[in-house]
Amino acid sequence: MPGTELFGAEERKEIMDVLETGVLFRFNHDQQRKGIWKALEFEAEVKKLTGARYAHAVSSGSTAVATALAAAGIGAGDEVIVPPFTYVATVEAVLFVGAKPVFAEIDETLCLSAEGIEKAITPSTRAVCLVHMCGGMADMDAVMAVVNKHRLILVEDAGQAFAASYKGVYTGLFGKTGCYSFDFFKIATAGEGGVVVTNDEQAYHYADSYSDHGHDHIGSNRGMEKHPILGFNYRISELHAAVGLAQTRKVPQILEANRRHKKTLTGLLSNTPEISFARIADPQGDSATFLNLLLPDTETAARTVEEFNRAGVSGFNYWYTNMYHFINQWDHLKEMRTASKLAVEVLGVPQNYAQLDIPKTQEVVGRLISFGIRCTWSEEEVVALAGRIAACVRQATAAALVS
Ligand SMILES: *Cc1c(COP(=O)(O)O)cnc(C)c1O
Repeated sequence: MPGTELFGAEERKEIMDVLETGVLFRFNHDQQRKGIWKALEFEAEVKKLTGARYAHAVSSGSTAVATALAAAGIGAGDEVIVPPFTYVATVEAVLFVGAKPVFAEIDETLCLSAEGIEKAITPSTRAVCLVHMCGGMADMDAVMAVVNKHRLILVEDAGQAFAASYKGVYTGLFGKTGCYSFDFFKIATAGEGGVVVTNDEQAYHYADSYSDHGHDHIGSNRGMEKHPILGFNYRISELHAAVGLAQTRKVPQILEANRRHKKTLTGLLSNTPEISFARIADPQGDSATFLNLLLPDTETAARTVEEFNRAGVSGFNYWYTNMYHFINQWDHLKEMRTASKLAVEVLGVPQNYAQLDIPKTQEVVGRLISFGIRCTWSEEEVVALAGRIAACVRQATAAALVS
């Protein structure tokens, strides 16, 4: 959780600026706020880092996905291709804008593959909600070729890939709209927060209005603002934006440390023949928040997890059995357990979610173990961790030979 590791004086200073004026609301109150506009500054910092033409901060990464979808025109009845390996918020956002998630295969990039997307396309497919997983990125040349060939709308959930880029273009900026999460576990945190990015002026205006009851945000009298569209309240507060601002300024420093640690770990672990790594479509653009190990098969990965637990190695995720990141555990989705009826229940579920044929995804996620990289690690800690990982993997492999 790199961002939270560096919480300190800079974050407190930005928060105090807001507390001095008491204007916790991001819009209006021009006199009282004395020139303090943290949400605007946070957005400017995100634009500076990513090169996005427009950025709009909202209350969470989840509401950022929902806003990005709506601002791209995705709504009731639209079929949207999504990955079965993602934080569940991606799928929830598609469902709650009234659209229909269609699951497609990922590959060793841990993201939807061009091949997977193409196989899932039907005459009703409207969009792809691509997720850049585990700090890396999808193979964008191949994905864009399929998206353009079939004239699909691309929305990017770069919730886990803020500051990652592919051939010089930042994640979130390939599609019509994209978004990042700034929750407590991401490379930079706002406490809770998200940012929608786009290079499309109309999509930006939709995002701005959609996330604040349709307000056009023109003029200084909020009560008299016009409503170009219907919207809802997904606003970020100035306090959260203040933290997000201070954290975003630290991202270049976090990236440098993450990449250094990941290079050391990868170098040391390359000597262990049973270990390979998730494919990084552009290694230079990796945000390096995770070291993503691929073991030879699911059994070896599961045994390696046992060895880690036995040896007291922590700080890793085995997503295959994780409740929130992989479809195998999403019984609520498979059984469509909802508090109130969703559009997809009225319009018809496009796939049998309980019996998806996704062998490639099962294989890749079954083999995957991800270590969160801490930017505050010392070189000695990194070297020691590599040694413990290699020892556990050897142990797990030796156990396989005996049994
Ligand atoms: C974290 C995350 C989200 C949700 O973000 P929150 O800020 O926790 O709401 C959405 N998508 C992905 C891929 C994420 O990793």
